[in-house]
Amino acid sequence: MAAHRLGSWFGSRRPAAAVPGPVADGDRPHREAAIYTRDQESGDHLAQVLSERGYACSLQLNAWAARYAARRGTPDLAVIDWRLGERAAGRLVKAITQATGNGACALLALVPGERPDLLLTVLELGVSDFLILPFERAQLSARLSLIESRLRELDQLKALQENLAKEYDRFLIATGGRNDGIWDLDLATESVHYSDRWKAMLGFAPDEIRDELEEWLSRVHPEDLTRLRAVIDASIAGELSAVEQRYRLRLKSGEYRWMLTQGEVVAGPDGKPSRIVGRQTDVDSEEATREAVRASGLQDPLTRLPNRAVLMDRLRHAFARAKRDPEQGFAVLFFDLDRFKNINDGLGHLTGDQLLRAIAQRVERACRPGDTVARFGGDEFVVLVEDIKDVRGATVAAERIQNEFRVPFDLDGNEVFTTISIGIALWNPEYQRPEDLLRDSDTAMYRAKAMGRNSFAVFDDAMHRKVVATLRLENDLRRALARNEFRVFYQPIVAIDDGRIAGFEALVRWQHPERGLLMPGEFIRVAEEMGAIIQLDRWVAEEACKQLRVWHQKYRAHSRTTMSVNLSTTQIMRPDVVAGIDLILRNSGLYGQSLKLEVTESVLVENAQYAKAVLEQLKALKITISIDDFGTGYSSLSYLRRFPIDTLKIDYSFVSRMLEDQESAEIVRTIITMAKNLSKDTVAEGVQTRSQFEALVGLEVSMVQGYFIAPPLPKEVAESLLERTAGHPNHLAKILADRMQGSSPRAANTRAVG
Ligand code: C2E
Ligand code: MG
Ligand code: MG
Repeated sequence: MAAHRLGSWFGSRRPAAAVPGPVADGDRPHREAAIYTRDQESGDHLAQVLSERGYACSLQLNAWAARYAARRGTPDLAVIDWRLGERAAGRLVKAITQATGNGACALLALVPGERPDLLLTVLELGVSDFLILPFERAQLSARLSLIESRLRELDQLKALQENLAKEYDRFLIATGGRNDGIWDLDLATESVHYSDRWKAMLGFAPDEIRDELEEWLSRVHPEDLTRLRAVIDASIAGELSAVEQRYRLRLKSGEYRWMLTQGEVVAGPDGKPSRIVGRQTDVDSEEATREAVRASGLQDPLTRLPNRAVLMDRLRHAFARAKRDPEQGFAVLFFDLDRFKNINDGLGHLTGDQLLRAIAQRVERACRPGDTVARFGGDEFVVLVEDIKDVRGATVAAERIQNEFRVPFDLDGNEVFTTISIGIALWNPEYQRPEDLLRDSDTAMYRAKAMGRNSFAVFDDAMHRKVVATLRLENDLRRALARNEFRVFYQPIVAIDDGRIAGFEALVRWQHPERGLLMPGEFIRVAEEMGAIIQLDRWVAEEACKQLRVWHQKYRAHSRTTMSVNLSTTQIMRPDVVAGIDLILRNSGLYGQSLKLEVTESVLVENAQYAKAVLEQLKALKITISIDDFGTGYSSLSYLRRFPIDTLKIDYSFVSRMLEDQESAEIVRTIITMAKNLSKDTVAEGVQTRSQFEALVGLEVSMVQGYFIAPPLPKEVAESLLERTAGHPNHLAKILADRMQGSSPRAANTRAVG
């Protein structure tokens, strides 16, 4: 199969302009990428894209050598092709994470489209970035941008850590000791040796403190003294082998600071406790926050997340900041668990609680350090995502959170899958009060639930309406195929010479659960952008071929009828398009000559050589090729000669104006004449009136299609048309005669193209 040959990682080739150009040195940090695949050509291809983004790439083609290399090298990004084999890829992931430390190297998994089941194992390995093969260049870019933003965060973190380490070194030199103060208590004499650092932590010079226990205990906060004393006494009595206490200690300045003391009991020669050796750590800042949270009841006791009060406080802060500086946008993500009640009822409340805790952890993991994840109550959570510019930032966060739910939760051996629906409200200057964002995100969450569980929805205010509509459409489209929401309508194409139904054009419709029957104009473009068109076109072709096969078997009189299927540009540029169509033909039992593929001119012009090869392979299967919407694009004669094209479909816009507009009429005439000279057929699209029809007949067009004959018809209506015309030598005559008697199928449908 041709599926994974050259360039097979890319569904289509976009013009080079879509690729970010080489990055100037110093603009971004220099990064290294390692590509692990067995497929040299795809690897080279990917390496090229990555080096255009500024990566230094290495390609590893052998799984064993790859693992070896992974142990030694430390790339910033490792791309792992799962076609290496599930086990090999898994081992590779482990080798890389071991060598680089978890998270230090970004991992991108390439999962073969025909094995979606592998995705789970990929995610279980902790690889959250993946692409399904083959993928679009745009998808790759989007994924890389995400990864890079994470790598940048990591860089910052590293820089921070390095700084800290430097500070620490300086500190060590200055104090001549460890950061922690050491103490050594002799139980027999109650004398204590304090290290200089111990004394310095309290602000004392080495000679200012005597080696007595009293020096220490007298400085412990009265409220903490009893506890500390009790622990030390218990150690002396041999009841404890280790000491660990947090308490407040008074410094020389009189100020109290939280300290952590950890010590070990050391036995003397008689086996009885003789000393306690320990260290003291300053945990004041840590303890102070804990204490504050505890004292004010700001923490949710179950999940230990900030509670509603903290959230509201941060929300107000973010709101005020955004008001001052609109660049500092933020979003509120509101979610609860889909069907939490089932878990609570089915597995008990304790398990429910456990799940909430586990979720809190995962969600925190999915969020950036500056974001606030809060428990709002019950199974409701809110995430405050700060520092985002547009809705995309919020939806990326939502996707990351949702990603965390792909792997089941392990609750005492019970594997529990759960999903969440997220509502998103994006700050904009129109908002009057912080609470309004909460309200809107809540509303959006209900919309997300209505769209189907495990989705997210953005609250649509006026400013974001358009983006939001597209997002929603994308979201819906993703599910529409699985939910069988698409329908194929069939529009007859009639031959002029003998009036027979020469064929049908398969036109897709979307039976949207809320919006009703949608025309392709409302979703094809988005489907193309998000890559869903590939599946959609395949489905339409399958459905239409199967349908025609049924009709062929049912109506012998219509056994020459063909099926025209529209192919998007993306589809035709896929390396596996021919194999895919071949498979569809075989599965449906339809002969190649019964199938016509409609492509647009742009395909031929922009990728001439490649397109020519594909069309020739399709011709070898006896499939015929139509150029759709002819006349609107390049209409170059030369390619008509060069390519194996059978039919030109004259665009609706010319046909509809040909009677009023001289120029349109001229174009129609020219196309028909030209086609005749080249021995190609013509179909006039969008014929609506008898006078248009007659004019076209006069110009000797080969076939017509349009409301004048029939609109696109649901399959039952199309079938009744075949039924009615089967016994008639001239189908067109019969259709028009029936129309006169009022049994036109016109009533059956629908809206026209804009
Ligand atoms: P197209 O391939 O040029 O299809 C012809 C369009 O003209 C259809 O619009 C059809 O309903 C409309 N039409 C037919 N007769 C008349 C008429 O007499 N008057 C007027 N005003 N319009 C007429 P539709 O179904 O809305 O499809 C629009 C476009 O969407 C199609 O244009 C095609 O490019 C695309 N499309 C439809 N189905 C598919 C599909 O399954 N896959 C892909 N990739 N594209 C599709
Ligand atoms: Mg078409
Ligand atoms: Mg057309």
